[in-house]
Amino acid sequence: MSWGRDWPDLKAGRRCPICRDVDRDDNGYGLRYFRGKWMSAFLQREKVVPGYSVAYWHGRHVSEPWELRDDELSGYFGEVNLVSRTLAGLFGSAKMNYQILGNVVPHLHVHILPRGQSDTRPRAPLVWPPAADSSDGGERIREIDLMRHVTELRDQLPQPPPR
Ligand SMILES: [Zn+2]
Repeated sequence: MSWGRDWPDLKAGRRCPICRDVDRDDNGYGLRYFRGKWMSAFLQREKVVPGYSVAYWHGRHVSEPWELRDDELSGYFGEVNLVSRTLAGLFGSAKMNYQILGNVVPHLHVHILPRGQSDTRPRAPLVWPPAADSSDGGERIREIDLMRHVTELRDQLPQPPPR
């Protein structure tokens, strides 16, 4: 096993799908409910845990937090914190989990995983990846539920004017 011949290009941001799609309201994997100064948060279609979100850094391409300046770092994680607090309130989570992986697409993003009161693996990490082929094999939440939660999240979060 290796990282692949395209890995140096992906790390450098060449043909990065997140750079390409981060300004869309629907990136295929989920719907955007927050666009801050530093990141965009999407509610995911894949049924992992209720409220499963991904917060994408939406500045220039970086793959590691240490590539950010101090103001970018605090700004990004400040917005991750804001979104997480809102998710915890809406979904009544017992614990919030954060995963910074980027092993498939090395563009900085945080998987935010509210662990519910009736979680399947309390006091343990989630099994990851959640589906054998998460690109199309994972169970999806109903689109009507996705839309309802996105509306609730948008109502509770500041919505800056479009750039
Ligand atoms: Zn990128």
